[in-house]
Amino acid sequence: MINILLSLVITSIISTFFGFGFSNIVGFWQAFAIAAGLQIIIALIYKSFQIEQRSSNSSDVEQQFNDLLSLSTINFICPCSKYTFTEEVFAATENVFKCPECNSNVKVHLNASTVLQTDVLNTDITNDVQSVLESNVGGESEKEI
Ligand SMILES: [Zn+2]
Repeated sequence: MINILLSLVITSIISTFFGFGFSNIVGFWQAFAIAAGLQIIIALIYKSFQIEQRSSNSSDVEQQFNDLLSLSTINFICPCSKYTFTEEVFAATENVFKCPECNSNVKVHLNASTVLQTDVLNTDITNDVQSVLESNVGGESEKEI
């Protein structure tokens, strides 16, 4: 409410200045009306631009949030083996879910285990399983001929 009153006061002050400035050319009230109209139009355009930008920002944030959630989404089978959960699981919370089949609560434990990795020295090694299999098939057929 205070913001609206402040905007009205600022708009009328600016319009008054325009009124005095152009009073010799178009008359005080004509200049006042033109200045007030222009300010309202500019404010409306600015406001709609702001709303558009805000909605696009929020959809970006939502997309990033969904991407993060999908990184934590896992599938696991209930001990009753009748239902497969697809849930977001987090390390710092109690991950308890209710099974709709057996009606019991299922708690998911996250076990962190580490594996020491070595640096790859020779990058020419074929590590693609499909290409290894294909090269073996080709070798055998050559032997048969
Ligand atoms: Zn169950």
